Parts: sequence; C-alpha cells; structure tokens
Amino acid sequence: MQFKKIFIVGSGLMGSGIAQVCAQAGFSIILNDTNRKAIDRALNNMAWSVSKLIEKDKLKEAKDTILNRIAVDDNFSDAGDADLVIEAVFEKLELKQKIFQKLDSVCQSHTILASNTSAIPITELASVTQRPEKVLGLHFFNPVPMMPVAEVVKGICTSEETMSSGIGFIKQIGMEAIRVESDVAGFLLNRINLPSAIEAIRMVEQNIGTIEDIDKGVKLAFGRKMGPFETGDMVGLDVTYSALLACYHETKEPRFYPPQLLRRKVKAGHLGRKTGKGWYEYNDDGSRKGD
Ligand code: NAD
Repeated sequence: MQFKKIFIVGSGLMGSGIAQVCAQAGFSIILNDTNRKAIDRALNNMAWSVSKLIEKDKLKEAKDTILNRIAVDDNFSDAGDADLVIEAVFEKLELKQKIFQKLDSVCQSHTILASNTSAIPITELASVTQRPEKVLGLHFFNPVPMMPVAEVVKGICTSEETMSSGIGFIKQIGMEAIRVESDVAGFLLNRINLPSAIEAIRMVEQNIGTIEDIDKGVKLAFGRKMGPFETGDMVGLDVTYSALLACYHETKEPRFYPPQLLRRKVKAGHLGRKTGKGWYEYNDDGSRKGD
C-alpha cells in the first residue's frame, strides 16, 4: 500500500524526528500533540535540523519546500484523512491504548496504525482496535534524522500485507528496515542494548568505574559514537526506565528490573538532556557542563 498522508501523534523528540524524515521524503504530515509548546518546539527543532542537513548538502530541496509539508493539529480532526498514523506519545500502555482506540474510531478502514513504542508489545495496542491486522510497530532510533534504520514489528495479528507496507514505507524514507517477527517486549535491538545499559549503571552503583570512564572506554574499545550514559541522556532516563519496566513485566526476568540509581534519578526529574541534568549536566545551549 502506498501512503500519501501521515498523521503523527506526539511531537516530542521522536514524533518531530519522524515527521521531519517523512517530510524530507515528500509525504504530507500532520503533527499532533496535546501540548502546544511541544508542537512549537518540534517546529523549531525541525527547521534547525533541516537547515543543517541542507548546509551539509545532504538535502537537495529548499527548506520551506520540506517544512511546508508539515501541518499541525491539536485534536484528532485530521486523522480521518491519513493513510498511516504513527503514534509517539509517552511510553505508557494505558495512554497509548486510549489513543489507539480513538484512532480506530476516526480513521478510515484502510488506514494503518503504527506505534513507535520502545518496548510495549504491539498486540497490546492492536487488541483495543477493530483492525488488529492493520497495527504494527515502526520503531525508530534517536536522533531520527541521523539514524538510517527502523524496526518493523509484527504483532500476533498483523497481516503480511501490513508488514510489507511498513517495510516499503521505511525504505521509501531512505532507511533500512529490520523485520521483527514477534512483538516480544523490547523487540530486537533494545533487547540487545538495554542489558548493557543496565550493566553500566550497576557498575557505577558498585563504584567499579565512573560514568566518564565507562563512556570513554566503550567508545574507544568498541568503536561506538557514544557511551551508554551519553546515549541514556539523549534518549531520556524516563524512556529507558519505561522500556526496562515493559521488558521486566513481560519476561519477569530480574535482569530487566531498572537499577536503583536509575529509579531515583527518574523520581528526582533528572531525565537527561531534556531537563538539563541526567547522568551529566548541561548548559542552556545544550553543551555539556565541564566540556
Ligand atoms: P517525549 O516525551 O519527547 O514526547 C512525547 C510527546 O507526547 C510529548 O510532546 C507529549 O506532550 C505528547 N503526548 C502525551 N500525551 C499525548 C496525547 N494524549 N496526545 C498527543 N500527544 C501526547 O517522548 P519521546 O522520547 O519522543 O518518546 C515517544 C515514544 O517513542 C515513546 O513510546 C518512547 O518509548 C519511544 N522511543 C523513544 C526513543 C528515544 O530515544 N527517546 C527511541 C525510540 C522510541
């Protein structure tokens, strides 16, 4: 199935990145959020990011041509015109289920409903709709405009036709699609990445190494661009916490239970770059304090 109009629910870090890459690929986007400030921040961030990509000659079209493909909406009135909806709100099952129920009632019968959830099983979201065969996971990575890969996740009822449409769409926006055959919590890549992030936090809790040394070592030894704590601050400590809890609830394996230090930091509101403090501290311009 070819999509023309895409409705994106949630204009935070991920929703705005997804909107941007879709607009860059020529799709018409409607960006939705209950928080007007989040929409304004998303529009500013997308304008900045598109300008940077044009400066680096990574985009051929004019900035306004790309950005004019994005319209905003603070209720669901325009979801009825969309061929594809991508949900990217907070990682909370009840909230996402409420949104999927609402989308199911306003969207046309052909519309595919996707979630960018990090770890919630897709079948849990599909189960509240009357179209479970048209529900799938499209799991992007942060920062979306720089990460050329997304997981395409099959729920237990997702049809092969929906999977093909999802994979075709990811290729159309210039990314590689990683097919995930079963919607286990954490899918494929987070099931690999989360245990190493937890292990790094536990080593700090036990005074085995410092945050700075672990990040430095991982980058130099394993050739990664960012260490686990730098990544954690970019992703958001609350996002990691919720993803871990989803994996823990699903598997009941203690190895996924969020470490105490992470739980306390989330409680204290030290969520990473977005709050100016997480594993590191940040200045107002986003640079790291002490750098
Ligand atoms: P975020 O906090 O930056 O943005 C979430 C947005 O959802 C906010 O702007 C909020 O106002 C909005 N929202 C909340 N309730 C809403 C509603 N009822 N209707 C419309 N909008 C609503 O979060 P994020 O980091 O962009 O994460 C979004 C989703 O993507 C989560 O499921 C997360 O697990 C997943 N994800 C995050 C990352 C990451 O690195 N941050 C990576 C992959 C997947």
